Amino acid sequence: MTTWTLAERAAKMNSSAIREILKLTDRPGIISMAGGLPSPKAFPLEAFTAACQAVMQRDGAAALQYSTTEGLPALRQAIADFLPWNVDPEQILITTGSQQALDLIGKVFLDKGSRMLVEKPTYLGALQAFTPMEPVAVGVDSDDEGMLIEDFAKQVGTGAGKARLAYVLPNFQNPTGRTMSDARRQALVEKARELNIPLIEDNPYGDLWYEEQPPLPLAARNPEGVIYMGSFSKVLAPGLRIGFIVAPKSVYGKLTQAKQAADLHTPSFNQRVVAEVIKDGFLDRHVPTIRAMYKVQRDAMLAALEREMSGLNVSWTRPVGGMFLWVRLPQGMDAQTLLAAAVERGMAFVPGAPFFAGDAQGNTLRLSYVTVTPEQIDKGIAALASAIRSQHAA
Ligand code: PMP
Repeated sequence: MTTWTLAERAAKMNSSAIREILKLTDRPGIISMAGGLPSPKAFPLEAFTAACQAVMQRDGAAALQYSTTEGLPALRQAIADFLPWNVDPEQILITTGSQQALDLIGKVFLDKGSRMLVEKPTYLGALQAFTPMEPVAVGVDSDDEGMLIEDFAKQVGTGAGKARLAYVLPNFQNPTGRTMSDARRQALVEKARELNIPLIEDNPYGDLWYEEQPPLPLAARNPEGVIYMGSFSKVLAPGLRIGFIVAPKSVYGKLTQAKQAADLHTPSFNQRVVAEVIKDGFLDRHVPTIRAMYKVQRDAMLAALEREMSGLNVSWTRPVGGMFLWVRLPQGMDAQTLLAAAVERGMAFVPGAPFFAGDAQGNTLRLSYVTVTPEQIDKGIAALASAIRSQHAA
């Protein structure tokens, strides 16, 4: 084997713990609540077929040509039109999935050793995206309403060690499913403004509410102090890799330069297809069908947990949107060990530990309810309860 010398940062890169787990659990016969994928039943296949044809017939050559780094003007305008605050399309940068937005933000804001704040727990993919920049990620204490402001202020730090950014997911968070309250949003925005810390607001799930729209985004409350990230992955289809950043003018240019170096631009064809699909209010008709489907599955999972977990000393979140629910096992029970017992019984979940920047809570796990039917949910949660009982007995 060749022994090449790799960059120090390469040693810090690791494959997502989730992807490794999915290799074990995506076997036939296993009811998997481990994945982070949207339901393929939610993909509007006909609308895409028609849009691909229309794009090729109308502007095929342009759709196949290089295009600008900032993104397709019609798509940027459409995004500005549907965001619930006053956004100039010139502030929108189309990205190759919102995952790329995390990479670009990391490159622009973080040096080796830079302090950055995240929720406890947070999106694992964000920790992964920031890791090559070698920052120090610090978890801020959080409750059911999101980051605790007092701990946020305490963790920001001062001088050269002051945090460069705080990364937050106010709506139906991945992995907990929790939503930040209106009051907490306001308090966080005000504290961040006072301390001059940029908030990175990641909102891929915000449109997937079940009963009522979540409170206004952080960016709507202080557009100059927040970098907002959105995505079409959960409302249309993730395979297109279309996401976006809304950035204050002060950093927009740097983010665009970072993107230019990374991939020149997001695929022209995909941008045009998405713009074609969403014109004429398609999302207003389509997204409610996803909400209705996921709500039935959320209800089935909550009912199954209520039924199966009684007396097991287990608690869980009650998400009002999104795709995930977070389970807390009895103190001392290890979700990683539990996973083996659960897979033996025919179900899989993701252990919670990798979602923490430090001080992992090993007695937590994430369940996704969107790619399983209510019948599978019943069977899967019964299998999980049986696995938990086996650990109690052990
Ligand atoms: N942020 C969060 C919180 C996510 O859950 C995901 C997808 N799992 C992403 C960003 C990335 O999504 P995409 O690149 O498909 O837009």
